[in-house]
Amino acid sequence: MTTIGHLINGIVQNDAARTQNVYNPSTGEVSKQVALAGKATVEEAIAAAQAAFPAWRNTPPQKRARIMFRFKELLEQNADEICRLIGEEHGKISHDALGELQRGIENVEYACGVPELLKGEYSKNVGPAIDSWSEFQPLGVVAGITPFNFPAMVPLWMYPIAIACGNTFVLKPSERDPSSTLFIAELALEAGLPAGVLNVVNGDKEAVDTLLDDSRVQAVSFVGSTPIAEYIYSRASANGKRCQALGGAKNHAIVMPDADMDNAVSALTGAAFGSSGERCMALSVAVAVGDEAADALIGKMKAQMQELKVGAFSDAGNDFGPVITKAHQEKVIGYINSAEEDGADIVVDGRNPQVPGYENGFFVGGTLIDRVTPDMLCYRDEIFGPVLLVVRVDSMQEAMNLIDAHEYGNGTCIFTRDGEAARYFSDNIQVGMVGINVPLPVPVAYHSFGGWKRSLFGDLFAYGPDGVRFYTRRKTVTQRWPSAGVREGVQFSFPS
Ligand code: NAD
Repeated sequence: MTTIGHLINGIVQNDAARTQNVYNPSTGEVSKQVALAGKATVEEAIAAAQAAFPAWRNTPPQKRARIMFRFKELLEQNADEICRLIGEEHGKISHDALGELQRGIENVEYACGVPELLKGEYSKNVGPAIDSWSEFQPLGVVAGITPFNFPAMVPLWMYPIAIACGNTFVLKPSERDPSSTLFIAELALEAGLPAGVLNVVNGDKEAVDTLLDDSRVQAVSFVGSTPIAEYIYSRASANGKRCQALGGAKNHAIVMPDADMDNAVSALTGAAFGSSGERCMALSVAVAVGDEAADALIGKMKAQMQELKVGAFSDAGNDFGPVITKAHQEKVIGYINSAEEDGADIVVDGRNPQVPGYENGFFVGGTLIDRVTPDMLCYRDEIFGPVLLVVRVDSMQEAMNLIDAHEYGNGTCIFTRDGEAARYFSDNIQVGMVGINVPLPVPVAYHSFGGWKRSLFGDLFAYGPDGVRFYTRRKTVTQRWPSAGVREGVQFSFPS
């Protein structure tokens, strides 16, 4: 059986002292093993990145950008293979994998503009014949730690822009679906990255802790669940590192009585069940304003859910695939059970989906639960499965209060025809990414991605302009060239 290794200093290598199973979630079978790097292997990757940094830092940004242009082409040429690897280990259907990859490629395109992004700021004559400028220098070795649910896109949020800015990188991808991530990193090297500029170590907590504690690592980007994000942020910042740690979510959609209900239901269906709900921007709670809106929403949603096709990743006719592991399947079903026990109304029950030929796959069918209340476990926790909760409220303000009271503040949206209500909502809601009749308001690559409250620890969002700021340090230089031989007096105070 294949064991997936690491990419260190341009060479794929294996530290197979410890390994873990990688599953094909559509069949439930073990497909590969992944090596779990020990401390020494991670230190080797950090050393390779450290050694590559001086030359890479001094490589002109335009030359770094040219490699990104070639990388983009290679990603496009190899899209089928990347999507197959994603599908095999994550379970998402090929059209969904392609969407993920496209979003990743857009971050490479943004990194192609790095000469423009690093131009800095310049002021002439800040004093008599004195000029001043700010430049943005790379940090050195930076690390990325990524989740299972976007094995191609989330790493591409991080290292293209970090590397284009002149840093060198050590990536620790999710150990649950590592193949596509490693394959893509090999393409980045094929595009022309010198050995050591991008390194990938597969592993678990031991690898992560080594990255967090090593003084050569200057900054850490993390994307994953909130408890781990909080841990990463605390430990990295206690060690003096810059850190951005993006966490979990519970994204609410407000459905107003004046919403275009057919379109709202279609949008909600895709955003709640697409990718089996394993998206940090999945809409997992619909907050219906008034019973009339709630009844219309439930009626139409129930009808639309009859059409949902759940199945193996390899059939492009399916809408979504399995969840990532058997344990996660059980966890999602456990949340549906708890909702039932707490008195919610299971309108569509996905606990026993029939997927002929894939009886051992980790499937959960689309599930719709009405009359959920904020005290229920299913409402408080991120379920991360194909489960849509409906909460009924009497006013938009009540809906907004619910959203603001939730611990997460990643994404939210409102379905309405009322511009004034939409403007009030987007202006006041305590959430980082807001949609108005847009169910998944994921910012494009030239904006930046991040949530508020316990969905992000740190100051700067991921990718886009914030990515450039995160992966660079401002240096401000003030310069004068006094005329040779002219003697100047001593000044004891600032000039006034
Ligand atoms: P996870 O937190 O379990 O794992 C993320 C990474 O952390 C992995 O690389 C994993 O190996 C590592 N890790 C796990 N436990 C660790 C520990 N105890 N110590 C050190 N490192 C550890 O997350 P996941 O299940 O892979 O991904 C799903 C979660 O990610 C969801 O909560 C989802 O909302 C979130 N997510 C958030 C965003 C965002 O942008 N906010 C995007 C995608 C996913």
